[in-house]
Parts: sequence; structure tokens; C-alpha cells
Amino acid sequence: MTSNDARKYFATDGSIFTLTPNLVVYPRNENDVRKTARFTWQLAERGRIIPITARGSGTDQGGGALGDGVMLVFPAHMNRIIELDPKTGVVVVEPGLNYGRLQQTLHTHERFLPPYPASYEYSTLGGAVANNAAGERTLKYGATREYVKALRVVLANGEVIETGRLSKRELNKKLGLSTFEGELYRSLDTLLDENRELIEKTRLGVTKNTAGYALAAVKLPDGSFDLTPLFVGSQGTLGIVTEATLETEPYNPETDLFMAEFDSVEAASQAVQALRAQKNLPSSLEMVDSKLLELVERLNPNQLKDIVGKPFPAVVLLAEFEDANERHRKKAVKQASKILNDHARRVEHETDPIAQERLWKIRQASASVIGHSEGRLKAVPIIEDGVVPPEKLEEFIGSIYKLFASAKLQVAVWGHAGDGNLHVQPFLDLSQLGDRQKAFRLIDEYYKLVINLGGSTSGEHNDGRLRAPYLEQLYGPEIYVLFQKVKQICDPYDTLNPGVKVNVKLDDIKPLTRSDYTLDHLYDHMPRS
Ligand SMILES: Cc1cc2nc3c(=O)[nH]c(=O)nc-3n(C[C@H](O)[C@H](O)[C@H](O)COP(=O)(O)OP(=O)(O)OC[C@H]3O[C@@H](n4cnc5c(N)ncnc54)[C@H](O)[C@@H]3O)c2cc1C
Repeated sequence: MTSNDARKYFATDGSIFTLTPNLVVYPRNENDVRKTARFTWQLAERGRIIPITARGSGTDQGGGALGDGVMLVFPAHMNRIIELDPKTGVVVVEPGLNYGRLQQTLHTHERFLPPYPASYEYSTLGGAVANNAAGERTLKYGATREYVKALRVVLANGEVIETGRLSKRELNKKLGLSTFEGELYRSLDTLLDENRELIEKTRLGVTKNTAGYALAAVKLPDGSFDLTPLFVGSQGTLGIVTEATLETEPYNPETDLFMAEFDSVEAASQAVQALRAQKNLPSSLEMVDSKLLELVERLNPNQLKDIVGKPFPAVVLLAEFEDANERHRKKAVKQASKILNDHARRVEHETDPIAQERLWKIRQASASVIGHSEGRLKAVPIIEDGVVPPEKLEEFIGSIYKLFASAKLQVAVWGHAGDGNLHVQPFLDLSQLGDRQKAFRLIDEYYKLVINLGGSTSGEHNDGRLRAPYLEQLYGPEIYVLFQKVKQICDPYDTLNPGVKVNVKLDDIKPLTRSDYTLDHLYDHMPRS
């Protein structure tokens, strides 16, 4: 489609940016994706670069789902569960499949996919794989990368490859191929061998990280090789995912949930460290701060009435335990109860699902902040996904408060306390030049702060366009050059989602800032089959 209407629709995602595609393609199958890639490759060979941006639901908060060339929209038709083995729990999906739909299906088989993002009801599996999405259960289960067994990927030239862990012998076969796939394996294998020590340094001291390319997970010390972890989290900049084979976990709906109110950030942080030190980690360890509670009360006085006590605690933690082994769970719950009671002013423990749902409303209240607007002031996602080593949680929160105070902005903090991964969204009016300048000052100060704390610019939302300019500072120039080389190997003509992840400067993204931030557009306007 080339209608203005369709192009305009896909000109925004969940980020503060806008970029209008020239053409919208709704692929019906992998062959359509191949044809699109071959088309742009052939044009690129003749010097005409037309980018391809793969797109799921477009909830990406960093501008990763925007492009000014071909927009390849998967949820329209490529949205099926291809295979589900109830015995092993392995599931094969098309990228446009809605995450919530998969999760529901898995639940009926007493399975689930643990790294679901908060946006799972309206986002896709393709987006989750490409972003290496993570969420409230990542503390115990890890991020998406750990669940992707294999992928089918359309390369920049339209060739299709299947990824999966290869033995040394299988790798040798790939190295001998005369195709683009062979070239890719040869170049990447050499790059990884020549830079082994440097690549080890890509492992940051955080428990979750989706910035950059996951080079350390490709070639293991046993000589085995797998491109899957590299494509996971690469945001369509190295290849386009047309099928994903995912592992799942047994689902246990019976959980123990604690809600604990703390008088200080310090006390909450001490409890987090103590819970993290236990053998049986909570499956979730989530937080909201007093500023969020105050804001929610102002917006909707009844929303959390009788759920959180007043005066509002500095921090509320929610700690969930869902080990299917009852003995293990009981032990963990006993330890958690002691830790929380030692540090908190009030602790509530619930096993009844309805009572638990009431407590989860505290964490879900962050949606009120995200969706809130005051006149033209909106909560904008510009610094919404920093992550630091969990032991620096208290320092991180304190620094965020200082940053917002010096910018004279209202602050509210929530997120995955157990991972040191916090979400903050300042209220700004992007139609005002002053607020746009303020936004970019805040962006700069915040990402430097996170990097100085030994953290990562993105725990789960990925680099996109927004955080791409900070990748070099985060990893250092030597590793950044490796990222550029990986991009060059997989995408020599720069047709795959250019302007995302690598080779991006702040001056490239500033002009893309939209003047009005909304998420209204995300959920309709699409043929479906
Ligand atoms: C309110 C809100 C809450 C959120 N909470 C979370 C959270 O808890 N955890 C989290 O991880 N994220 C979160 N996100 C970010 C985002 O929703 C997730 O990362 C989600 O998984 C993206 O899915 P999507 O279908 O919207 O992907 P899109 O936004 O369409 O795309 C995301 C990226 O993947 C690429 N891509 C999409 N499909 C393919 C494909 N087939 N092949 C190659 N590349 C592809 C796109 O080019 C883009 O770079 C949140 C966003 C919002 C708005």
C-alpha cells in the first residue's frame, strides 16, 4: 500500500519519534518477505537504498519500528502458531502472532513463556524476539533470548537461513557454503575468533541487558556456534525473522504474593539485596515509589484506596513466589517473610488470586502515569528503561530524584527492583521547543548517569533510535567498532532498518522528534487473516 493514510499510520510507534514509510507491505508468507528483501537488495546493488523495517505491533519505545522505506507489517497475516508440542512445550510461531494469544494457548497446556513484556496483550512475538523483550518474571527466568531455540531469518539479499546451535562439524559445513549465508558464517566466525577477549567484555555487570549485539553468546568455549542469540535483540538490523522456535516453562498459577511498604528507599533496597541473596529467587520483585502513589492518588483518588496505607510509603515492593515444588516454595516464602518483616513497616501476604489481583493493582498503577496527560503535557518514554547492578538500586533511585529535581520535573519511579531496572517517564510538552531541549538534556544526563553506575542504557526495550547514540559510550569504542562490523557483514548495503542500533548520532534523531506524543494509533487499521 502506498496510500497516505497507511503510510501515516505507520509513521509512529511507541517512541517520541516519527518517520513516514514510502510503502507498506503486509506479507502473507515468507516468500513475500524474501521478494521484498531481494527487491531492495537489487536496487541497492544499483546504488538506490530503500530501507526495510520489520514491524510487529509498533509498541517499540525507542523508535526501532520506524523507517522511511518499506514497512513490513507482520501481524496482518503472518500471525499463526505453526506447531505446539504439548509434551516438550516447544512452540513454533510466526512473528506477527499476538503475545497474549500465545500465552493463553500455552496456559491451556499448563505452560507459559516467562519473559513476557508488560505490553504482551497488544505486542507480537516477532517484536519480543527482535527486542529481546523481558518483564516481571525475568528476575527468575531470564529474557527472551534464553527461550529462542531456533529462527528462520530472511537475510538482506533475500536468502533464507535457519539458525540453531551447531556443532563444530556442522559449523564447518556452513563455512564451506558459497552463498551469502556461507559468507556470513565465515566473516562472523573470523571476527569472533579474532576478538575473543574483547567480546567477553560485552558482558556488562547487570542481570538484564538488551543494548548492542549479543556477540558473547554466539560462539561458546566448546566450539559450538549459534546465530540465534545474535538475531535476537537485533531489531531487524541484521535480518528479518519469519519464524521462531521457542521453549516454554511449566505454568503454575498457584503463587504466594507479598506486598511490603517501606519507610525509606534504603530499607527497600536492603530487602531487595537480601531477597536476591536467597537460593530460591522470587519470580517477580517489583516496585513503585511514593511519587507514583501520590500521582495516582491525585489523578484518581479511589484507584488504590484501602490497598496502600497513608502516609504513603517511600517504596512498595511486590515479591512473588511460584515454584511448583511446594516444599521449595514454602521455604522461600518463610525466608521472604522474615526478610520483609525485618525491613518493612507493613507486610501483607496473599495466596488467594482475588486478593493478589488487588495487590498487583499497585504495580499496574504505573499505567495511569504512562497514559496520563495534563493539557499537552504527556509522560514521554525517553529514559524509561535504564538498568544498573541490583546492589546500586538505592543510588540509582537517589540519582533519578536529583536529576528530576534539577530539571524541575515531576518524578515517579516504578519497575523491576530485583533487576535494578527502573522505568521513569517525565511529563513534557513536545510541541514546545523548550521542552524538546529539556528532553534531550535529560536524555544525555540520564544515560551518562546509568553508564557511570556500571549499568546499561536498556534492560528490555532495546536501543532503537533513541539509545543508539549512547551505544559507543556504553561499550567503549573498540566494541562499538565490532558492532559496526557485524552490521556491515550482515547488511552491507544498509537496507535493514538503518538508523537503528548502530551508526546513529544524536543529531540524526533530534529532527525526528514528534510534536505530539500519543499511543492512540497502535491497535487498529490492519487487514487480518
Ligand atoms: C506501555 C508499554 C509497556 C512496555 N513494557 C515492556 C516490557 O515490560 N518489556 C519489554 O521488553 N518491552 C516493553 N515495551 C516495549 C515493547 O512493547 C516490547 O519490546 C514488545 O515486545 C515489542 O513488540 P511489538 O510487536 O510492538 O514490536 P515492534 O514495536 O513492532 O518492533 C520492535 C522491534 O522489533 C523489530 N521487529 C519486529 N518484527 C520483526 C521481525 N519479524 N523481524 C525482525 N525484526 C522485527 C522492529 O523493527 C523493531 O525494531 C513496552 C511498551 C509500551 C508501549
